Amino acid sequence: MRFGYSSDCLDHDPGPRHPESPDRLRAIRQALSHRHGVEYVEADAVTAEQARTVHDDDYIEEIREFCADGGGQWDPDTVAVEATWNAALKSAGQAVWSAHEALDGAGGRGTPFAIGRPPGHHAVADDAMGFCFLNNAAIAAQSALDAGAERVAILDWDVHHGNGTQDIFAERGDVFYCSIHERGLYPGTGEASETGTGDGEGTTANLAFPAGGDDAAYLAAVDDAFAPLLADFDPDLLLVSAGFDAHEHDPISRMKVSTEGYGVLTARVRALAGRCGAGLGFVLEGGYGLETLSESIKKVNEVFDGYDPVEPNGGVDDRMRSVIDDVRTAHGLDGT
Ligand code: ZN
Repeated sequence: MRFGYSSDCLDHDPGPRHPESPDRLRAIRQALSHRHGVEYVEADAVTAEQARTVHDDDYIEEIREFCADGGGQWDPDTVAVEATWNAALKSAGQAVWSAHEALDGAGGRGTPFAIGRPPGHHAVADDAMGFCFLNNAAIAAQSALDAGAERVAILDWDVHHGNGTQDIFAERGDVFYCSIHERGLYPGTGEASETGTGDGEGTTANLAFPAGGDDAAYLAAVDDAFAPLLADFDPDLLLVSAGFDAHEHDPISRMKVSTEGYGVLTARVRALAGRCGAGLGFVLEGGYGLETLSESIKKVNEVFDGYDPVEPNGGVDDRMRSVIDDVRTAHGLDGT
C-alpha cells in the first residue's frame, strides 16, 4: 500500500490526556516499518478554497483565526493548538490524494491509505466537533466528483457515527454514505430511519449495532446491507472512512472486532470495489489503542500484500441481525 503521510500532522497536539494523540501516527509508522510494499507519500495540503467546497466560509475563517490566536478548547472534546489549522489542511490533503490515486486506478502502484490527523468524519459544514476540524473524507469525495467522478460511495466503519459526512451529503444523490457504528456512543445519531432526503433519499444507510458487535456482525452488515446498496449505486470511487475504534481492545468502545476481522472487512471491500469497477481508497478516522490501531492497519496492508484473512465461523447474534434487517427494510431490499 501507499500511505499518505505528513509529519505536519504530528504538530496538532491536543494535550497529554487526549486520546487523539500524535502517538497514533507514530505507532502506525512503527508497526509498518520494514513491511513489504509500504511506501509513504506526502501530498500537498488542501487550500482554504478546497475546504470551502464542503464547509461554510464563515466557519473556515473562524477556525483559522481560532488556531492563529493559539487555539484552545473549541468544545470540551475538540482542542486546537496553533499548528492545528495547518495539520487539518494537510490531513485533508492526504485524503484528497487517496481519492485521486484510487480514481486513477492506483492498484498497480499500491492501494492508497491516507493516515492524516486530525480525523474528519464528525466535522459538519459549519462546525468542528468530536476531535474533527475539516471533514477529510467529504473534501476528498467532493474533489473526486469535481475531477469527473459521477458517483462516490463512503463506507464508514469507525465505531462512531460519521454525522458530519452524513449531514454534508444528506441531500445529494451522487454520494452514498454508509456507516456501521455502536448505538449510544457519541454523537448519538445514525439510525436506520436516516436514509437521506430530497435527491439524496436512499443514499444514506446506518447500521447502529448494540455494544458487542463482532466480526460476524460486521461482515454480515457489509454482505447483506452495504454490498447490495453499493451495487445499486454503482460508484466510480469507494472511500473507506477507516477508524479502528470498534476493535475489541480499543479503550473507548464496547465492540468486539478483532485484528483479523479488519483484515476480513478489507478483503470484502476490495472485492466489492472490484465488482463495481470502482477505485478504492482509505482515509483514517479514529482508533485509540496504539497497539490495536497500528496492528489493525498492519493487517489491512497485509491483505493488499496477499494475505488471505480467516473469516469468522460463528453465526450472527439475533440483536445484530435485526439491525441489518431494519436497514434492508428501510431501503426496500426485501421488496417491502
Ligand atoms: Zn471513532
